[in-house]
Amino acid sequence: MMTLQSLVAGKPVHSGRTQTVRSPYDGAVAGTVTLAGRAETEAAIAAAVAFRDTPGRYDRFRILDNARAILEKQVEDYARLITAETGLCLRDTRHEVARALDVLRFSAMEALRDDGQVYSGDISPNGKARRIITQREPLACAACITPFNHPLNTVLHKLAPAIAAGTPVVLKPSEKAPLTAVRLTELLYAAGLPAPMLSVLVGPSADVAEPLVQDPRVELVSFTGSVAVGKRIAATAGYKRLVLELGGNDPLIVLDDADLDLAVQLAAEGSFRNSGQRCTAVKRILVQQGIAPEFTRRLAEKAREYVCGNPTDEATRVGTVIDEASAIYLETVLDEAVAGGARLLVGGKRTGALLQPAVIADVPRDARMITCESFGPLAPIVAVRDLDDAIELANSTVYGLSAGIITTNLNHALSAAKRLRCGMVNINEIPAWRTEMSPFGGIKDSGLGIKEGVVETVKTFSTVKTVSLPW
Ligand code: NAP
Repeated sequence: MMTLQSLVAGKPVHSGRTQTVRSPYDGAVAGTVTLAGRAETEAAIAAAVAFRDTPGRYDRFRILDNARAILEKQVEDYARLITAETGLCLRDTRHEVARALDVLRFSAMEALRDDGQVYSGDISPNGKARRIITQREPLACAACITPFNHPLNTVLHKLAPAIAAGTPVVLKPSEKAPLTAVRLTELLYAAGLPAPMLSVLVGPSADVAEPLVQDPRVELVSFTGSVAVGKRIAATAGYKRLVLELGGNDPLIVLDDADLDLAVQLAAEGSFRNSGQRCTAVKRILVQQGIAPEFTRRLAEKAREYVCGNPTDEATRVGTVIDEASAIYLETVLDEAVAGGARLLVGGKRTGALLQPAVIADVPRDARMITCESFGPLAPIVAVRDLDDAIELANSTVYGLSAGIITTNLNHALSAAKRLRCGMVNINEIPAWRTEMSPFGGIKDSGLGIKEGVVETVKTFSTVKTVSLPW
C-alpha cells in the first residue's frame, strides 16, 4: 500500500492524522496520506514568501525538462495510480499522463521564452529620448486548489507554468484524489525544484484551503472546481488575483448537413471519455430535427461499444464516477428526465459508483440534465429546429465554458463561433479539444474569463514590471 505525506517545503508532515484513499470501484485501498492543518498551512506560506533564490530561466527549464523525462519513464505507474484513486479506466488515465507530458514540455519551452517588450520613449511631443522595457517577475506566493477529475493534469496546469514563471506555490489537491498530486510533488523535487517553491497540503478545506484563500500574503488563488466553491472563494479572497476555472454544461450542436459518422463518434467520445467527468465533456447534444432520428439511433448503437466496468481491464472504456453518491445523483437526474417524457435508449444502470453510459432521447429542455451540469456518462439529446434555435438553447444556461458544432456549412460554423457565449468553440470537434499550450477557460458562471493554458498561465503567475532608461 502506498503511504504518502503532505509536504511543507519538502518536509514530510507527521501530524498523526491520516486519510485513506479507496478505489471507487471496489473499495481497494489506493494509499494513505498524512493530513495537514492550519499550522502546516502557515508554515508553507511562510516558506514560500521567504524564498528569494528564484532559479534563472535555464534552471527553470531544466527542472521542467527533467520532470518530463522522469514522468515519461513512469507513465504506466501514474496511469495506474490515477485509476486506483479515481476509478477512471486506464484508457483515460494513460491519456491524462500523455497530456501531462505536454504540459511539462510546453512549460519548459515557456521558461526559456522572454515575452518582454520594448517601447520607444520619443514617440510624441510629450515623450523623451528614452526606452521602455518590460519584464516578468514572479509572485511571492500562489495558492492552487484543484478538483478530483484530472488529478494530474489540472494540478500540473498550475504547477508547471508557475515553475516557468518562478512563483512558489502552496497546493491543496482534492481530498477525493490526493495521492497523484503528492507523488507529483515528490517528482518535481527529484527534478530539482527548490523545496520552498512547492508545498502540498492534503487536509480539510476549513483548515487548509480557506486560510490559503484568505491570507493576504497569498497574491494569487488559482482554483479549478465547482461553481459553488469558486463563488465562495471569490466572496472571501479579498484583494488578490483570482483564476477561477469552474463548471461547464457544454453543448455539441449537430446540424442536418453534418458528417453523421463524425458527429456520432464525437458525441460518444465527448460524452463518455473520463466517465463524462470533464468540465468540457459534452453535456447536451442539440441535434437538428431532420437528422435527429438517425443520429439518435446510431449514437445508441455506438454507446454499446463503451464497455463499462473494472477500470483496470484493458477492454473497459468507461470506469466509475468518483463515488457512489455521484452515481446516485446521476441516476436521479436520469429518472427525473424519464419521468418528464425522455426516452432512455441504452445504459443508465448503476452498480455502486459504476454507471453504464446512457443515451437519452427527447429530453425536455427544462430537465435538470439540460439546465445544470451533470458530471457523468450521460448523453442527453434534444432536437432543435435550426441553428438559431440551437444557439438560443446553447446560450440558455448559466455556464459558458466551451461548445462544439458539427456542420459542413462554413457560414453556419462561423455564425456559431461568433454567437455562442462561451470561452471556446470547436468546429467539427468536441468542446474539450485543445492543446495544452492554447488559451482555455470560460465566461459567465464557468469562470472570470482569465484563461489557463500554458502561455496564459505563465502570465497570470507573474507580474509585468515596466522599466525605462535613457536611450
Ligand atoms: P469542488 O467540490 O469545487 O472541489 C474543488 C476543490 O475545492 C477541492 O480541492 C476541494 O477540497 C476544494 N474546496 C472545497 N471547499 C472549499 C472551500 N470552502 N474553499 C476553498 N476550497 C474548497 O469540485 P470537484 O467536485 O472536485 O470537481 C468537479 C468540478 O470541477 C466540476 O464542476 C467541473 O466542471 C469542475 N472543473 C472545471 C474545470 C475547468 O477548467 N473549468 C476543470 C476541471 C473540473 P475537498 O476535496 O477537500 O472538498
